[in-house]
Amino acid sequence: MSDNKLNIQVVSSEGLTDEQKELLKKVISDKLVRCHQETDKGKIGGLSMQIGDTVYDGTIEHAIDRFTASDASYIYDENKHVSDDVQKQISAMNTDVDIYQVGRVKSVGDGICRVVGISDCMAGEMLEFPRGLTGMAMDLTEKDIGVILFGKAVSLQEGDEVKRTGRILSVPVGDGMIGRVVDALGRPIDGKEKIKADGYRNVESPAPDVLHRHKVNVPLQTGIKAIDSLVPIGRGQRELIIGDRQTGKTQIALDTIINQKGKDVICVYVAVGQKESTVVDVVRKLREHGAMDYTTVVCASASESATMLYIAPYSGCAIGEYFMYKGKDVLIVYDDLSKQAVAYREISLLLQRPPGREAYPGDIFYLHSRLLERAAKLSDDLGGGSMTALPIIETQAGDIAAYIPTNVISITDGQIFLESDLFHAGTRPAINVGLSVSRVGGDAQLGAMKQFSGKLRMNLAQYRELAAFSQFGSDLDAETQATLNRGAHMTEVIKQGQFSPLSVTDQVIQIVAASEGYTDNVPLDQMADFETGVVEYVKRNFPELEDEVMSGKKLGKESVAKLRKFIAEYRDSLA
Ligand code: ATP
Ligand code: MG
Repeated sequence: MSDNKLNIQVVSSEGLTDEQKELLKKVISDKLVRCHQETDKGKIGGLSMQIGDTVYDGTIEHAIDRFTASDASYIYDENKHVSDDVQKQISAMNTDVDIYQVGRVKSVGDGICRVVGISDCMAGEMLEFPRGLTGMAMDLTEKDIGVILFGKAVSLQEGDEVKRTGRILSVPVGDGMIGRVVDALGRPIDGKEKIKADGYRNVESPAPDVLHRHKVNVPLQTGIKAIDSLVPIGRGQRELIIGDRQTGKTQIALDTIINQKGKDVICVYVAVGQKESTVVDVVRKLREHGAMDYTTVVCASASESATMLYIAPYSGCAIGEYFMYKGKDVLIVYDDLSKQAVAYREISLLLQRPPGREAYPGDIFYLHSRLLERAAKLSDDLGGGSMTALPIIETQAGDIAAYIPTNVISITDGQIFLESDLFHAGTRPAINVGLSVSRVGGDAQLGAMKQFSGKLRMNLAQYRELAAFSQFGSDLDAETQATLNRGAHMTEVIKQGQFSPLSVTDQVIQIVAASEGYTDNVPLDQMADFETGVVEYVKRNFPELEDEVMSGKKLGKESVAKLRKFIAEYRDSLA
């Protein structure tokens, strides 16, 4: 086709006579073109013509459909007559001939359908079905197109018309999304007003390339002692939260979001495949702690179709990305990606793609890598924004060597490994310090924190080794007993309740107190009280500490001496 005309080339050795040309034209129009004409009163007026898969629609029915689907909304103004407004809007109605491509549903079932008759379609393109149903083209074959459907397909039937939109699946983005709960397509589900979007962003976009990235060098404070001191996270980093069921994975993410209050970080929480009641609970907790003022929740709950679960993380990513490219700092939580992988496996099997290991399709790695690569710290010429990703993976019986966990571990910059045993033994957050790492966050850690946390990690490791060993011996020498005692106090100090994130300064004070032995004689069950007390005492007597810690530099000799002095003073005041 060129100039929107079908080219037919006729080659002959000698020129054709007029008679022959006429004959040829007749043959072409009789043999190659079949023209049906029908009347349909429902079209109201005008006419539409379909050539191949392309429809040229100039009917009034279609113009009205387009008008009602558009954003034109009626605003009441008592000074104006209603009819004036209606007239104005009708006169603005687009009555041009609309050109679009259509096909037909060949088969439908299990949330997917196959479409025939569309000759041209993009991978990932949105398709429209009757009665407001939408779908996304996933499988492009010569014979037909495999489409995954968003929403319930109960009303869809074989032979139904499918319309191309010419658009890749996109979600609304902008400030209007903040504070809202939306579904995987960005439609509000919190019962509040319509979202005023700044625009739309494709759910799938390429990740920034190496040249447009900056080194991770600004900390993202989680407010959780065990993380900020031992597995520090930087803005733009991807840190996996991994653990069995009910080990406090979601809680870590929530505390981190709550801790971003007043830190100018926009948060996106993507709930994939969770019970609706759980998500409602999460939103309520965020609201209670004032975190919904800067957070968007994207929810594809367990009761929704696999398609929604598959697409939700990408939608959330697009919503966050918009802010990152505006130069803002974003934190995104994917809770959790194991459920997304299962949803994608379901879709792939239904689309009859060959199953591989654990029945996951061959491109399951790409499912997560293309998502997590979009988290970045952008270079200054791109505005210097960042998107920090906290993907969550659920393991079975602590097996981090299973297929999906190893995939995601290899894509991320570190992991926080949560253990059931620790959780049940009361060490909460149940972080296994030995198996948790942060590969890039160290550079982003504040100087003061780095100064004191090094000791903590080493001492904890030493303690664990000794504790395991000394279980079998009864009489231990004094030195071993002292090491064990110190270790027990340090283990105590990294315990932290839910919804109580701490500032870096508070963390530093508590960590110094425990790791330098000021708490050695404090009974373990009184540690929590001691921690609150010492923070309050030191900050009251040494108010400049806060600024010094936040300056990002190491504490000077004098400040360290002062810090130690006040901690000791507080300890002695209790004796
Ligand atoms: P699931 O696998 O069901 O998603 P999860 O690993 O996300 O679970 P959470 O829902 O975060 O775990 O936490 C499980 C339970 O433990 C919750 O009731 C939560 O309130 C509690 N919990 C989590 N962290 C702590 C903590 N630091 N202190 C006390 N309780 C906690
Ligand atoms: Mg959870």
